[in-house]
Amino acid sequence: MTEHVRVAVIGSGFGGLGAAVRLRREGITDFVVLERADSVGGTWRDNSYPGCACDVPSHLYSFSFAPNPDWPRTFSGQEHIRAYLEHVTDTFGLRPHLRFGCEVRRMTWDAQELRWDIETSGGRYAADVVVSATGPLSDPKVPDVPGLDTFPGTVFHSARWDHGHDLTGKRVAMIGTGASAIQIVPALQPGVSRLTLFQRTPPWVMPRVDRAVSGAERALHRALPVTTRMRRGLLWGIRELQVQAFTKHPNELGFVERLAKLNLALSIKDPALRARLTPDYRIGCKRILLSNSYYPALAQPNVDVVASGLSEIRGSTLVAADGTEAEADVIVFGTGFHVTDMPIAERVVGAGGQTLAESWKDGMAALRGASAAGFPNWMSIIGPNTGLGNSSMILMIESQLNYMADYLRQLRVLGGRAALDARPGAVDAWNACVQERMKRTVWNTGGCTSWYLDANGRNTTVWPGTTSEFRRATRRVDLAEYELLRAPAPVAQAPDGAGKSEVTA
Ligand code: NAP
Repeated sequence: MTEHVRVAVIGSGFGGLGAAVRLRREGITDFVVLERADSVGGTWRDNSYPGCACDVPSHLYSFSFAPNPDWPRTFSGQEHIRAYLEHVTDTFGLRPHLRFGCEVRRMTWDAQELRWDIETSGGRYAADVVVSATGPLSDPKVPDVPGLDTFPGTVFHSARWDHGHDLTGKRVAMIGTGASAIQIVPALQPGVSRLTLFQRTPPWVMPRVDRAVSGAERALHRALPVTTRMRRGLLWGIRELQVQAFTKHPNELGFVERLAKLNLALSIKDPALRARLTPDYRIGCKRILLSNSYYPALAQPNVDVVASGLSEIRGSTLVAADGTEAEADVIVFGTGFHVTDMPIAERVVGAGGQTLAESWKDGMAALRGASAAGFPNWMSIIGPNTGLGNSSMILMIESQLNYMADYLRQLRVLGGRAALDARPGAVDAWNACVQERMKRTVWNTGGCTSWYLDANGRNTTVWPGTTSEFRRATRRVDLAEYELLRAPAPVAQAPDGAGKSEVTA
């Protein structure tokens, strides 16, 4: 049996839950949230590795419409963020909409009925509008290392932590030095017998000014909610002022680079190790990592830093590209996610029978980060070029929710059975503008590679501006950027091209 709904939201992380809250606030209750797992939380459910925390302050990394006066720390841990999302789910009455165990297998646009047919592992759905909030950091990437199948020990990815496997006293190989790995390393180091870090590229690391939020602060936030908003506003404003350095004047980041080098020098006394840990690209090109414990952990006698990527595995011997060999009982891949090649794109089949992956073969692109041409009434939350290098993604998500709300309002005003399909010209114009601005950013000019760039070297992930600019760009749906589709008359065979018309509303 197929359940027909007005809106199907895919995913129940920050994006999906935010969409669900907004739908209810818009008076739309005819919707489901399809979730492949058995609980909400998205990346904050999947990432439970030791040391997992957010490197964006909690008062900014939370919904503006659901402030939490009780954040325990300035940078909260995964369990608190996950609990916050459960709390949001309950507070806003989202449980009846959740459909767990529903992994999207295929989603096809039905041009006759003007709706999406969605086949999931937990049943079939039909939706007039799809809000895809699967997030870019949901499908772990494990490099195709020759000989991985010969490794006799345990292997897992940072986002699929095997809590049943005790690493105490084990020889652990950590692969990667991204935001996940630098949190895992200090958490594991004290308990393992040997930790070998395979570092292909050293990250820039700055101290994390983390502290417990005092009881007095929390009481103040509870008594005077405006103080939570003021705190959030301050955190937002500071980051907003920093954006220009990332997007227009990367040379200004030289000052931050000097601070990061000082942080390294103060933490690592061994000059040889310090040299191995010193990046050779502009700070900010990759995400700037925040940690007080990463460098101290690397200086411990049971840690080896191999300044080379993992290139081969021969049984329990791991071989780096520079020929260094290390023995291990366990391999932890902190090797990131399928961001620009997300698997779900292969399962979304648009109006022309093309998958989203085929449509994006030369690079992801979506009008205002939301709408892809040829995929009517489908919109993404955290879509192409909506990521941030220095601030809270929740700000971008809330902007996209404004866009989603206006999109649904416009459909209601248009009346009848209608769908909007982004005009290819509008998508191209938006994308050309984004890519033009991208040319000057540190992410493109800083001399590094990162997951921000796709296989063609194009930055299709990060927003090259301030969060306020994005807020303005997504306030309203401009109908001129869309083609209006109407359901063909049911009686006779519709001639070619029938069902398409100019938007006149
Ligand atoms: P990532 O940033 O993509 O890092 C992957 C790491 O794996 C890189 O250091 C990469 O090296 C390395 N790698 C890949 N193949 C390798 C090989 N064969 N040998 C050695 N190293 C290899 O992934 P992530 O650390 O999971 O972080 C992804 C994103 O998640 C972050 O950028 C951030 O947005 C988010 N995150 C956020 C937080 C937070 O606190 N808010 C925490 C964790 C994650 P190269 O650098 O040379 O490519």
